[in-house]
Amino acid sequence: MHSILVYHTISEPAVALPGDIDISREKFARQLQWLARRRQVVRLAETLSGTSKRLTAITFDDGYRDNLTVALPLLEKFELPMTLFVTAGFVGREGYLSRDELREMSRHPLITIGAHGLWHRHFTLLDAAEARHEMMESRSQLESITGLDVDLMAWPYGECNVELEALSKECGYRAAWSVWKGSNAQHSLWRVPLGRRDNMLRFIAKASGAYFPTKVLEQKWERFRNGGDNLECADPSALSPGATRRSRSSVDSI
Ligand SMILES: [Zn+2]
Repeated sequence: MHSILVYHTISEPAVALPGDIDISREKFARQLQWLARRRQVVRLAETLSGTSKRLTAITFDDGYRDNLTVALPLLEKFELPMTLFVTAGFVGREGYLSRDELREMSRHPLITIGAHGLWHRHFTLLDAAEARHEMMESRSQLESITGLDVDLMAWPYGECNVELEALSKECGYRAAWSVWKGSNAQHSLWRVPLGRRDNMLRFIAKASGAYFPTKVLEQKWERFRNGGDNLECADPSALSPGATRRSRSSVDSI
């Protein structure tokens, strides 16, 4: 089963950041080592082809500066590609990539740049004109900085709905990714969040596509009962109740 992983910042602040989005360099390195040995890690766009292979893709959201200074050297070491979804309005802020750094990353052979909104707003609370502006302007700014086409996006907080999925397509995005929200179709494809609370066992379950939070398992079970899903790898008995409970908070705050 495919698994699309989402990271944010590779750092270890004394106090955990809200949403379980920080992960230490050491832990990240161990995870990459496991991925390099056990999974076929491909560019994100390759997971769109509908092949039956069990692929993994690595993504990063928001555009933290440590993605360049800490994550990239490790990705180079293991020769693993990643897609960086950048919040265009955050470029140049303290702790985030500058325009020059973003341009440098965009030219790296392992890296693909995608959009992540202009101001990291809750898209489901925006009207259609605001949502369209966020999608068009973020794309335009990233293309202007990198000189490259940007046609992939990730929803801030993973939030989307059917109307937004259609709008994303209308705005020229080839595909978009959420975090266990939306219909898991071409413009709301599910990703798995990772943070400091993931031990190696839970990381392996997530990277193998075998981990879903309780709410998602219930949805999949309903679809299975109605004949619309095969429940592949989604064995509820493989998950501890504590692990599934904890994951909800991280889903809701990305
Ligand atoms: Zn984000």
